Formats: sequence, structure tokens, C-alpha cells
Amino acid sequence: MKKTFLFLVLLLSASAWSIQKDFSRSMTFPFSSGYKIDGVARNVIYLTIDDGPTPAGTPAMLDVLLKHGVKGTFFVHGDQAVRRPYLLERMYLEGHLVANHSYSHQTDFPSKSSFESSLMRTHDIIAPYIAPENIMLYRAPGGVWNTWRSSIGNNHRVLSEYVGPLFWNVGGGKPGSQDDADWKCWRRGNGVTVSSCANSYYRQILSNYSRNQASLVLLHDVKSLSARLVDELLTKLKRDRVDWEFRLADDMPIVRQMAR
Ligand SMILES: [Zn+2]
Repeated sequence: MKKTFLFLVLLLSASAWSIQKDFSRSMTFPFSSGYKIDGVARNVIYLTIDDGPTPAGTPAMLDVLLKHGVKGTFFVHGDQAVRRPYLLERMYLEGHLVANHSYSHQTDFPSKSSFESSLMRTHDIIAPYIAPENIMLYRAPGGVWNTWRSSIGNNHRVLSEYVGPLFWNVGGGKPGSQDDADWKCWRRGNGVTVSSCANSYYRQILSNYSRNQASLVLLHDVKSLSARLVDELLTKLKRDRVDWEFRLADDMPIVRQMAR
């Protein structure tokens, strides 16, 4: 009897240790074909905000989200986060999700150890601000991804707990297209207003809706202009006839499935 009990305990603890989360091999995860997120209704919007936390952009973005009662997912850089833990704390306390976006936005990793160390240095800084019930997420800087990176991540003791990389279907700013991004708007200078950029985001979300797909929106908290954009965008969306729903990025069924 004692032996059976011991065996059961060993079996249970072994299965607990073998819980594997996953980096997808696909650069455009979590999308299936046509930039659709399977199992998510078209009125769902995931706001994701990258490249902070910065004093110029993050407090303004948090203020706007608080004003509208909307939660977002912040993909932060380790080198920004380490200098501003008070902004991570604010994200956490206000119900946002803090996620990993590398240490200093590297798109090129010359070795396995450079990739692991960029993600792990960031992980060590952000881990205290991620609630246990949330899933640890990673977004690749510039969306640059390959199977080599996914296998390094999946074979690492800590990084294998992550799900990613998380791509986007709004705010990509593809060259020569109408698919505006906030950084592209601000770079263009004269003639571009916060409203014109907010309208572009709005059109991209509506276009997804008309194609029966949810929106995973890419934004940045580097300049306060992006916070003004989000203010206009949320005001516009809330006046719509569509009952838009805002969720954290770890809420997608495919992410939950990968995290099992
Ligand atoms: Zn970025």
C-alpha cells in the first residue's frame, strides 16, 4: 500500500514537472490562414503595446487605458524595464499583462546563448509582475522568427514556459500599404494627425470584423502621441453599434492550448 502511494506521488510529480508550454515554429502565430485567430469572435480586440516602458509613452498610455476601463498586454524590453520597475508595477496593479519583448529589441541573435540571455534577462525582471494565473508571452522584435529560435526556447528550462511569438493583424505598417502603424504615422511628419492615424487603425479593425476575424492590435508606448491615438480609437469604438470586447493576449484559446 505504502509502495503504491509512493508510486502515485512520483507519477503525479513527474507529470507536474513535465508541463510544457510552447514557442510555435510559425512566425505568424497565433494566426491560422488569412490572419484569423481560431475560436475567437470577431468583436474581440487584443491591444498589445510594445517597446516600453518609457517615461514619454507609458504613463500616458496607462492613463488612457484606465480612463476607458480597457486592459492591454505590454511587451516590454528588459533594458527599459530594469530602469522603471514602478511602471511594471503600475501595469500589474491596473490589471494589464506584462510580457517579454527581448532585452534590447534584437532581431539578430548570433548564438544560442545570446538568444537565451536576451530573453532570460528580461524574464528575470518581469517575472514578479506576472500573476501565476497568467501565461508568459513572448513577441519577437520586428516579428523576426525561425524554427531555430523556437527549438532553443522549447528546450530551455525556464523559457519553455513561454508561449509565442505573438504576431499581429492590425498596426503592421506594411511598406506602401494603407495598413498604418503608429510609428509609421509619427515618422511621416507633416500632414499626419493623431486622428488620421486613429482612423487607419479603426478601418483595419472594421476590415477584420467584416472578414469575421478578431483583431490583434500592435501599438507602441514610446511616444505620448500613441496614447492620444488610443484615446481617439477607443472613443470611436465605444460609439459603434458593435459591442467590442477587449481581452488580454493570454486569453486566446490557441495560447491556452499551447500553455497546457
Ligand atoms: Zn518592438
